Amino acid sequence: MQVLVLNCGSSSIKFELYDAHDMTSRTHGIVAKIGEGGAYLEITGPRGRTRRERVVATHAEALETLFAALLDPETSALSSLDEIVAVGHRAVHGGESFVESALITDEVLTKMQECVPLAPLHNPANLTGMRETRRLLPGVPQVAVFDTTFHQTMPPRAYRYAIPARYYETHHVRRYGFHGTSFRYVAARAAAMLAQDQADLRMVVCRLGNGCSIAAIDGGRSIDTSMGMTPLEGLVMGTRSGDIDAGVVLFLQRELGMSVTEVDHLLNEESGLLGLSGAGNDMRVITQRAEAGDPACALALDVFTYRVKEYIGASAAAMGGHDALVFTAGIGEHSARVRQMLSTRLSVLRIEIDEDANRETHGVERDISDLGADVRVLVIPTDEERMIVEDTLRLASLVPAAG
Ligand code: AMP
Repeated sequence: MQVLVLNCGSSSIKFELYDAHDMTSRTHGIVAKIGEGGAYLEITGPRGRTRRERVVATHAEALETLFAALLDPETSALSSLDEIVAVGHRAVHGGESFVESALITDEVLTKMQECVPLAPLHNPANLTGMRETRRLLPGVPQVAVFDTTFHQTMPPRAYRYAIPARYYETHHVRRYGFHGTSFRYVAARAAAMLAQDQADLRMVVCRLGNGCSIAAIDGGRSIDTSMGMTPLEGLVMGTRSGDIDAGVVLFLQRELGMSVTEVDHLLNEESGLLGLSGAGNDMRVITQRAEAGDPACALALDVFTYRVKEYIGASAAAMGGHDALVFTAGIGEHSARVRQMLSTRLSVLRIEIDEDANRETHGVERDISDLGADVRVLVIPTDEERMIVEDTLRLASLVPAAG
């Protein structure tokens, strides 16, 4: 009983095959550079063998090649596509139309189509993947798991922008937040680690990867998050600026004559750690160079951690206090240096970490708080795919996985 998890982007399709009985994944891969020329499929199978082949360039053809590769005994666990009992799609923007994951029907696809203006790059690619998979695997239930739904519990004071109401009422301009699947997984794991009910916990979760966002999760519900209508708002990220005075955008257009496309590219692709450091967007390189005395990398690290600290304080204030601070994703999970910088002088928020525990990086869930500290500081590897499989099995009314 296999569940296929698909993440269809504008130029790539990431896939992972899960055995629903033991919730393990032995086959995963990517079709990359779709539509760019040089598109290829890379698949790693249950025996750890990786195969790479050139593919043709549309999403439909990429999916066909992917399904053929899943049947190749060299790389896959499948002897027949009939073993796939359901497909879970990672979906980016559900707007206000979706407050939870959804079994894909014609009506769901229509509603997703209506959300395209909110995510003009991502939603069309998600939709193509869903339509093509329905065509190739007719009768197999498919589920959309959105990045935004977890934050639909935010109150208006957190999600409304202070601009005239008609922009919200007519054009749906508001804050939505993203990374919801990751937050949902991590919050549940944190409660399990603390042996407490989520209903009794106030958590600040820092999801620091190439994309970064933070969420205030009160009683298991998101009450605020740092990303906005798009993933551009909030923390400094790998290549995104995060918060910036909207007046800067006007300045760039009015004084420098930059077009909408140029400003979009500047703020989404050339900014953040990359823009500040001039040394790329990899936090490992930036911390190493900062320690070796590179002033631009030291500044990038400083701006990055300062912004996260501000948001930790804001999130705790939004909940009237906090019981746990959780770190996840590439930087949050692996960078002892960033976690150490973030906890420095945060005893005012009752955050104190144990230096030795912080230094250990096992890739496993752990508590790194100082023994006497009130707020538990946890490091939890994220696992969005597992969450997608669980939602998919539940909504497809299939037997839930054991364990
Ligand atoms: P993600 O988007 O979750 O895959 O995270 C990607 C980010 O995690 C990149 O900026 C990486 O540089 C960063 N990262 C991964 N491993 C480490 C590490 N050991 N130390 C610092 N940053 C890391």
